Amino acid sequence: MGYRVAQLAHGFAVKNAEAERVSPVFPDKEGALDWLLTAAERRAPRERPCLSCQKPFESKGIHDRLCPACGHRPDDGLGDAQRPVIKSRGN
Ligand SMILES: [Zn+2]
Repeated sequence: MGYRVAQLAHGFAVKNAEAERVSPVFPDKEGALDWLLTAAERRAPRERPCLSCQKPFESKGIHDRLCPACGHRPDDGLGDAQRPVIKSRGN
């Protein structure tokens, strides 16, 4: 995974393999560790209920929330359902 808890001047935070801070700053190490575990859980592939039909399916991660039957958009980010899709009419 490459994530670890790092001590900062004013608390603790989770950093990734590139040493970029990816979590909020917590006043104690336990908070950062808890965030890390929660984040790992959220990212891990697991069975999740489909946002559309509520049926559980094998989700590839927190971003993957629609079952194959309801359509799967690759690289769908969080909460961007409103993002306009500009389709090229090019031939
Ligand atoms: Zn579905």
